[in-house]
Amino acid sequence: MQTEEQTEEVNTPITPTPAIEIQVEDDRTGMTVDTLKRAFADNLYYLLGKDESWATPHDYYTALAYTVRDRLLHRWINTVRTYMKTETKAVFYLSAEFLMGRQLANNLLNLGLYERATEAIKESGLDINDLRLMEAEPGLGNGGLGRLAACFLDSLATLEIPAVGYGIRYEFGIFDQWIKDGAQVEHPDKWLRFGNPWEIRRPELTVEVKFGGHTEAYSDDKGNYRVRWIAERKVLGTPYDTPVAGYNNNTANTLRLWSASASEDFNFQVFDSGNYVGSVTDKIFSENISKVLYPNDNTSQGKQLRLEQQYFFVSCSLQDIITIHRRIHPNLDNFHEKAAIQLNDTHPSIAVAELMRLLIDEHDFEWDKAWHITKNTFGYTNHTLLPEALERWPVSLFERLLPRHLEIIYEINRRFLNEVRAKYPRDDARLRRMSLIEEGAEKYVRMAHLACVGSHSINGVAALHTDLMQQKVLKDFYQLWPEKFNNKTNGVTPRRWVLLSNPKLSELIAEKIGNNWVTHLEELRQLEGFVDDPEFGDRFSAIKYQNKKELADYISLYNNIEVNPHSLFDIQVKRIHEYKRQLLNVLYIITLYNCIKRNPQVEILPRTFIFAGKAAPGYYIAKLIIKLINSVAKVVNKDPDVRDRIKVVFLANFSVSLGQRVYPSADLSEQISTAGKEASGTGNMKFAMNGALTIGTLDGANIEIREEVGAENFFLFGLTAEQVFAMKSKGYNPWNYYNSNSELRETIDRIASGYFSPENPKLFAPIVESLLIGDEYMLMADYQSYIECQEKVSQAYRDRANWTRMSIFNVARMGKFSSDRTIRDYCQDIWHTKPVRINLPAYKPLGTR
Ligand SMILES: *Cc1c(COP(=O)(O)O)cnc(C)c1O
Repeated sequence: MQTEEQTEEVNTPITPTPAIEIQVEDDRTGMTVDTLKRAFADNLYYLLGKDESWATPHDYYTALAYTVRDRLLHRWINTVRTYMKTETKAVFYLSAEFLMGRQLANNLLNLGLYERATEAIKESGLDINDLRLMEAEPGLGNGGLGRLAACFLDSLATLEIPAVGYGIRYEFGIFDQWIKDGAQVEHPDKWLRFGNPWEIRRPELTVEVKFGGHTEAYSDDKGNYRVRWIAERKVLGTPYDTPVAGYNNNTANTLRLWSASASEDFNFQVFDSGNYVGSVTDKIFSENISKVLYPNDNTSQGKQLRLEQQYFFVSCSLQDIITIHRRIHPNLDNFHEKAAIQLNDTHPSIAVAELMRLLIDEHDFEWDKAWHITKNTFGYTNHTLLPEALERWPVSLFERLLPRHLEIIYEINRRFLNEVRAKYPRDDARLRRMSLIEEGAEKYVRMAHLACVGSHSINGVAALHTDLMQQKVLKDFYQLWPEKFNNKTNGVTPRRWVLLSNPKLSELIAEKIGNNWVTHLEELRQLEGFVDDPEFGDRFSAIKYQNKKELADYISLYNNIEVNPHSLFDIQVKRIHEYKRQLLNVLYIITLYNCIKRNPQVEILPRTFIFAGKAAPGYYIAKLIIKLINSVAKVVNKDPDVRDRIKVVFLANFSVSLGQRVYPSADLSEQISTAGKEASGTGNMKFAMNGALTIGTLDGANIEIREEVGAENFFLFGLTAEQVFAMKSKGYNPWNYYNSNSELRETIDRIASGYFSPENPKLFAPIVESLLIGDEYMLMADYQSYIECQEKVSQAYRDRANWTRMSIFNVARMGKFSSDRTIRDYCQDIWHTKPVRINLPAYKPLGTR
């Protein structure tokens, strides 16, 4: 990167000419409608090489994106220059996933350009909404964890915190989900097909990452014991930078994603020996590393390529952070005082061993000093207690792929176990439990333990989750180091999830309380003053109705199903997972259906049940649940006895973009996971902020949402986490519920009979079996409580004025769940970072300064 000195210090033999006065309305930084319109036309012409005679809608989108990017770059370059001068501590957020969502509208919004761009596009004879739809969504994440990283970047920039997000530039993000004959079909996500105008490739910052080979000990010239890693292969990591704009300020932080390529285009030795194809194949192996996102949510895929991805992006990022540090500071002694690195789950936890390796092997540090820096640099966020999500890698794989890291992990473990032994003498069971190495026929490296030992902070993502983490999964670590543990309840950005997703509600709120709530979400409390204002209530519910109508149009277009926007919109959108219990929701639908079949004249509240979510391609039962939802939909939607009172809809390809349509259109938010299983949830927050009432268990952040909005404005059901554990330990038998509850029995029998799959009556037998044998997620135990609670929901919805009142209370009291609050807490308790204000002087081109 060029510094000011380099550009200003020029060997000029003649008297410099006076600086040209640069117009404020520069073509590439100006913010008026006329300038935007001109820049848009110029970009179409000069960057895309087209004019209106043959430009496609995507070309128009790209031309507008470049117009916005120019304005972003101005802020971005200023931000980077300011950070380099201020030397304040920065946050580096390491995450294997960033689920950013579309960039165009969000950037326009944060830059304060949305209205003017809309006008400029209109004056160009186009509609900005058509252009917005042309953007491919960068789906570089699975669900909540990746979306959290994206919300955090928005809040970090909005709070003016120096921060970089580091991850992988997957060529293929989360698969496109198609529904064919009611079943999920996966298609590759070719999001880069038409280019990505938001990123800038930085080939000059390319770094090298080693894999495999062996290590050698040697003595350096001072006679010190040193280790050399002789790698078997090397891969190059090239960064692609995307600016991340803060809302209504001049900050533009960086999302830096790494792309892998071969270190040499041709291995000439191989080339000479005639194996041309073999040498090119080598190149392909390297490129594979950043090829595709693993599509598992809350489950670890124990594949070598996955560990390669993790090490690849961690090594690239740490080398890069060290380079950034060394540009400003003489050495790495104060690294931990200038860099706070957060590990988003264990996916990047190899960073602990990698930073030790870089400090010791490449920067000549002694162990103790390196360890002090490492421990004080990292913070670890735990995201789940599900056993299938705990990452463990076979020692044999480590030996093959990362031999030097295995040595370092063994040494970390040796010293760590000495510490444990000193505190708990003669407690071998504890040593075995806490070791970084799991012993057995096959030995494993426990990545969560590595993250815990190598970090100064360990946090959970909601109060209950942090509690359970401390009492169960990481109990031994909590006993050893209680001071390391803390809670940081998740949040979501109100910019994307209210202002952008729900413009009508945002306008109404702004009319009543101004615009401050966008960055100070607690201010929504002022809306409580309007709960008994009938005019406000009418407008509030009219907006909900309009949002529902728009979703109904979408459903009509894509699902060819007509739904009634006056019916209660009951929505469950999230990854399909047994613990999230979409199946419990289906059991209620079938119960209602049975009720209608018994007595077609029965009084029932019209409801539209809407589902969306992807299942991991290898998750058999989850995919079968999708098929069941669609099979039930097919029967229920066309049964004349139902008389359109209940409708079931499965929306294909859930994504951030689809979420933006769906969350604002819900009356009821389904947050029905088995208590103790959902770490936090963030979908629950997006729904409630947009005025949906929640039907939910005491799980994750539901507990805190209920605390905030008031128990009277929340539909609670089900066992508590404690009751779940107690029941399991006593020996839980789902058959008792089947035998004693006739409504439940009829519901399950209806599935088992093949009623919903006449062409293959046994199709759903595995689902029936999952309920009757084991019922891991205790749907049977929670069924009756859920059914009764849903009846209360129906009753409550009949009093529409009071429902609206409850809905307003939900919006007004969701301030806590802004990711701004979450980030402020991380800054204060974990990162110890402060904001840096960015000024925006007018752009002065090189040569005129
Ligand atoms: C918010 C969000 C999630 C997380 O939803 P949960 O209900 O918390 O599981 C998943 N996917 C997308 C696209 C989201 O926007």
